[in-house]
Amino acid sequence: MQKVTLDGIKVVDVHAHPFREQNEPESPVDFLRKLSLSVIPEMFTNIEDVEKFQPYPGTNMWIQILFRHMAKYLNCEQDLTSIVEARNKKAKKFSNYTKELFTDVNLEGLIMDFGYPQPPIDRNDFQQMSGARIWEIHRIEPVMVELGKQNLPFSEFIGKYRDNLRQALQKEGVVGLKTIIAYRSGLEIGEKDEQAAEAAYKEFLLNDKAPAKAMRDYCFHIAMEECTSADKFMHIHTGIGDGEVVLSKASPGFLLDTFRKSEYKDTKVHLVHGGYPWMEEAAFIVSILPNVYMDISLQNPFTGHGVERIISQVLELAPFDKVMYGSDAFTVPEMNWLGVKLFKECFERVLNDWVEKDYMDAGQARYIGEMILYKNFENIYKVKL
Ligand SMILES: [Zn+2]
Repeated sequence: MQKVTLDGIKVVDVHAHPFREQNEPESPVDFLRKLSLSVIPEMFTNIEDVEKFQPYPGTNMWIQILFRHMAKYLNCEQDLTSIVEARNKKAKKFSNYTKELFTDVNLEGLIMDFGYPQPPIDRNDFQQMSGARIWEIHRIEPVMVELGKQNLPFSEFIGKYRDNLRQALQKEGVVGLKTIIAYRSGLEIGEKDEQAAEAAYKEFLLNDKAPAKAMRDYCFHIAMEECTSADKFMHIHTGIGDGEVVLSKASPGFLLDTFRKSEYKDTKVHLVHGGYPWMEEAAFIVSILPNVYMDISLQNPFTGHGVERIISQVLELAPFDKVMYGSDAFTVPEMNWLGVKLFKECFERVLNDWVEKDYMDAGQARYIGEMILYKNFENIYKVKL
């Protein structure tokens, strides 16, 4: 039986964040902190005195797999101190190191959310540093926060908000908007109610992280409208995220009623993170709505060995042409690198299993690999690499 390999296939990562060039050496504990989804710095404090074979307190499978791959790549011992020492040596020339890692895994392009970290990193700077092609989405929440500081009357706030989105969508390289409403008031979006929105606006002015649900829902609808008229993509954070997420209202199923509205039938939507751990809901939604797509970011690589199960589960229902590769990498280039490595290695196992079961031949399996790694991106976003 012919083995399927995804070696050499180019990759576009449809959801990641930029990171800053860092020429100063990382300390082992800081490096560890950068690998975690926790936004709580105390998550990793005690990394001294671990015994041989004992995992560092607080580390999980994805970090384990990363260390394993990094030790092999850097040709060093598999303990945190040796790994960080070896990577620091290479990372002295940070841009070269980033380019080397991206090239090693054929990572050629990324759609990036410059909304994190704040203050934002410049797109051209990141493009130059990484050597990859960069597209951008424009996050709506920082716009709301900035305008909120001006203490405008609600109608003026909304007017300026809409102008801002419209102008951003005209910019070269901007493929859509993004919302993290799942981190604030959740995905159960209400009707567009101006009066309720205006009342909630007062809550928002006092605290820009407050739920202020009716106002956020109102702003969400405006973003959907602007994406529709610009024929660009609405990226919606679904599923788990960092420590702030409203977990009980983060599953993609909450969005279905909104998507079914006749005014949004042509709106292109990109479900970021594929709703993990509710990825079957996302897979179902993209299987019934022609303009809704999903990616496998965050769950890849942060669930470690789980990536294999997730790819298999998502493709139980999701059409092959609706799913795209992603990483949600957000701090160090090793995240982007392992994202691709782990994804390809897990996907190969899934594809080989399908070939073995005679559901398809190896040629078709590799083609499906190419679709999810970059071809779907090209078709859906109408760009050629
Ligand atoms: Zn993200």
